[in-house]
Amino acid sequence: MTAAGAIRPRIGVLAVQGAVGEHEAALADVGARTTRVRVPDDLDGLDGLVIPGGESTTFGVVAGQSGLLNAVRTRVDEGMPVLGTCAGMIMLAGGIADGGPQPLIGGMDIVVRRNAFGRQVHSFEADVAIPVVGDPPMRGIFIRAPWIEEAGPSVEILAVHGGHPVAARDATRIVAAFHPELTDDRRLHRLFVDGVRTKGAVTQPREDSVVGAQ
Ligand code: GLN
Repeated sequence: MTAAGAIRPRIGVLAVQGAVGEHEAALADVGARTTRVRVPDDLDGLDGLVIPGGESTTFGVVAGQSGLLNAVRTRVDEGMPVLGTCAGMIMLAGGIADGGPQPLIGGMDIVVRRNAFGRQVHSFEADVAIPVVGDPPMRGIFIRAPWIEEAGPSVEILAVHGGHPVAARDATRIVAAFHPELTDDRRLHRLFVDGVRTKGAVTQPREDSVVGAQ
């Protein structure tokens, strides 16, 4: 990371689909510079990356065809910090429960269940306590949201809703099943950008990481 990056890190927002502008606004509010990432070269010089929501299957196909998926995977595997929301969380998962094969970025030791909250609660809002960002709870907007079905020891669960983990982090990644960019609560973006700013990584997970649903 450059010295300038340490103060105002440059964060890419994958601009294949989803709430790109809203993520850019949130990142700007917490002091980051932003770049839209559409092709592999756009990843050059970035200090971190946001993967918005959308449809993970569409994302996998479109980004796969352009070579972007492989390029992102390489950077993420090298340790570039990433924030993934909703479909972005799915893209970062190591696997999908009961899902057919679909292209993923992978790398995070979680298994997610797509559209997990069921048809009757297709989209909903709920207060989600996220102790790591403090009180009050964040207003979570869930849109055909996944949950985390399994998590390995490198993963710290940050939030649980309805008995299922809906936000988590490891050393370089933060994921949320909901859409923090659709509210004006910047605490999750701040957690991410502060992690990028101070150490070029998101955090160090606790030793006693919570594993799986609780
Ligand atoms: N249901 C979508 C998927 O499976 C995710 C929805 C979202 O990103 N809001 O990819």
